[in-house]
Amino acid sequence: MKNPTFIRLTDKGIYCIPGKFYIDPWKPVDLAVISHGHGDHARWGMKKYLCHRFTKPILKHRIGEDIEIQTVEYGEETIINGVKISLHPAGHIIGSAQIRMEYKGYVIVFSGDYKTDDDGLSTPFELVKCNEFITESTFGLPIYNWLKPQEYSELMQTWVQQNRENGKTSVFIGYSLGKAQRIMKSIEGRGKIFVHQSIGKLNEGMESVGIDLPEYETLNFQESLKSTNGEIVILPPALFDSNIIKKIPNRATAICSGWMQVRGSRRWRSADAGFAISDHADWNGLIETVKATEAEKVYVTHGQTAVFSKYLNEIGINAVELKTIFGDEETTEKELIETK
Ligand SMILES: [Zn+2]
Ligand SMILES: [Zn+2]
Repeated sequence: MKNPTFIRLTDKGIYCIPGKFYIDPWKPVDLAVISHGHGDHARWGMKKYLCHRFTKPILKHRIGEDIEIQTVEYGEETIINGVKISLHPAGHIIGSAQIRMEYKGYVIVFSGDYKTDDDGLSTPFELVKCNEFITESTFGLPIYNWLKPQEYSELMQTWVQQNRENGKTSVFIGYSLGKAQRIMKSIEGRGKIFVHQSIGKLNEGMESVGIDLPEYETLNFQESLKSTNGEIVILPPALFDSNIIKKIPNRATAICSGWMQVRGSRRWRSADAGFAISDHADWNGLIETVKATEAEKVYVTHGQTAVFSKYLNEIGINAVELKTIFGDEETTEKELIETK
């Protein structure tokens, strides 16, 4: 039987042939269906964008106020050139979506980046059955096994409490879109939360579409530094070891990244703590998801593509690597850990 697939990998990105649109393209195209707001998936220069309603303010903030965006709700069906498409929660960050495409009864799902644990902020991951499934594999090695959100939240809260008792300010380092909001949620109610303005701006965008975030104040490094004493500050990775962070007196610093699970404490000696929290599925999360989709064919797009597709083939799932240029936003956190 002829392979009924209707997508193709091009130099601009993944292309839906009958639909004539691209999924998270990396070069300018007429119509881009966007899975979520991270920079490797949502790029500049598209004539028109289609994304979830929650992603709109993120795209406007990061790409430009004047871009043309069509938004949909999760599960809402739209027909584009005969292809039925709908977005379904990916549980990765607020607004993140899996893209379901159906053409002549054949279903292909592009997962984007996804996370199967409910973090209490992003709409929880929804499994979508399909004929072909395009999965990421950022943490596609058996060594990656995340604690449950409740468990790492308790560890983080204990750390904040200890710092407070020692007269220290708890400074968390995490990516501004996704990780920062997770950190806020994890330590909600344990002190006043100050965030860097890059995080504050994204928070405002999310709040503008009705997302309920924990209370926070945007940090002003000229004026509000003294009031951070004994409280909580959240900064993006670029500020780790910067002069700005050094202005915060009596600080204890923690890096929040999935990569912290295997780097060992010596790797974060210039930080005081590390918490392995990630916006991506761990090894079991990836495998359980791939199996549950019941897809006859699986494409593995970024991260540990070789190991993960080999493993899938060994357990009887037809998987191939798809050479995309999606990265992961946690790379900046990874570089931080590896170079210190
Ligand atoms: Zn992402
Ligand atoms: Zn990504």
